[in-house]
Amino acid sequence: MLDKSSPQKLQYVTILGATGTIGLHTLDVISQHTERFGVFALSANNNVKGLFALCEKYAPKYAVMLQEPAATALSAQLKDISSTTVVLHGEAALCEVSAHEQVDVVMAAIVGAAGLHPAMAAAKAGKRILLANKETLVMAGNLFMQAVLDGGATLLPIDSEHNAIFQVMPQRNGGSLADSTLASLGVKRVLLTASGGPFRNSSLLELKAVTRTQALNHPNWVMGPKITIDSATLMNKGLEVIEAHWLFNAPAEKIDVVVHPQSIIHSMVEYIDGSILAQLGNPDMRTPIAYGLGYPERLSSGVSSLDLLSTARLDFCAPDKLRFPCLRIAYEALNAGGTAPAILNAANEVAVEAFLAEKIGFMDIPNIIDYVLSAANIENVESITQLVAVDLLARQTSTAKIKALC
Ligand code: NDP
Repeated sequence: MLDKSSPQKLQYVTILGATGTIGLHTLDVISQHTERFGVFALSANNNVKGLFALCEKYAPKYAVMLQEPAATALSAQLKDISSTTVVLHGEAALCEVSAHEQVDVVMAAIVGAAGLHPAMAAAKAGKRILLANKETLVMAGNLFMQAVLDGGATLLPIDSEHNAIFQVMPQRNGGSLADSTLASLGVKRVLLTASGGPFRNSSLLELKAVTRTQALNHPNWVMGPKITIDSATLMNKGLEVIEAHWLFNAPAEKIDVVVHPQSIIHSMVEYIDGSILAQLGNPDMRTPIAYGLGYPERLSSGVSSLDLLSTARLDFCAPDKLRFPCLRIAYEALNAGGTAPAILNAANEVAVEAFLAEKIGFMDIPNIIDYVLSAANIENVESITQLVAVDLLARQTSTAKIKALC
């Protein structure tokens, strides 16, 4: 059990995935507002060196490693510097520091399906959730949105596109849009912008030969490896379409994707009167993070002003679902509903990991996901336990398919 004795003066933040790109950006923004935010807990998977450095700098009350050996090593290192940070480990501990009564804000920035349980715990405990982990909504959109509603949580999207849409949507019910329809808000459609990734202009032949190093080189954003590959395949945009569906109660046909290579417009909302409202800024995740931390106030983020004169032009084109089949597959999974998006997510995670390990080619990623989805039995989503089983089965099918390819 965690100690519940210390008084709360500041807004206390738990950062899940603190050693990652979003986690570090969050700490950067928090450091600019120490009069307002305190760090309650920081978590990582097994990056002892990274979490040790953060514990030394931010002195959180708790540090959580997923892996026990990593937690033991971190604990020993912190003891050597007489740190008071308590080290915990495992998924249950991640849930505990997300739901703890002293915590006000949870930054959900673990990568992948591993982020689901702690995000659910934060939702049930009624926290302000800054949701970067889009996989939670892709896997369990209906259950998570219901948990947010039942728990009285405040859900603020951190993905730059959804944060942009949130900013230009009419603000209702303390920011929650999920219980309104687009029509009732006068919204015709939402437009998600996509940079198009590093291979926007590559031919199919060139895409087949893409290497790990090339795919990890995103033109506009600095991100963790999984989302960087997702951006290169356009699966990231596909996952974001599903995320937008749940966040904004938007049917698939009202969510369009527009390729915008400069990544200056982060997304748009079209209203029935013909107005299109957009949110613009330099591509820097500290803007949506500061928005989420300060909401409904605005906080400085350290992001430099957008120089429109040097930007000069903004280009747009349609995404090519033939060269980038992951986007097509994601729309199909959304339309199929039920467990299809969870299966898509699991197959994608396994395929991306295999690509990063240089076991499969770039264009094998959509082929594996297509295969796993077509082999799967799509069911209605009833529970998290069911989704965990569905996720596991999809991972086993994906792994078997990858073995057959190697
Ligand atoms: P990173 O890979 O940079 O960081 C991932 C974090 O999660 C690390 O702290 C890592 O710990 C931790 N982690 C990894 N696996 C596990 C696990 N199994 N259990 C617990 N913790 C784990 O990812 P990003 O920061 O880039 O992305 C995080 C999330 O935010 C993703 O869902 C991504 O889609 C989303 N997002 C990211 C954006 C970006 O600009 N980076 C933009 C919009 C959304 P360790 O260091 O020990 O491995």
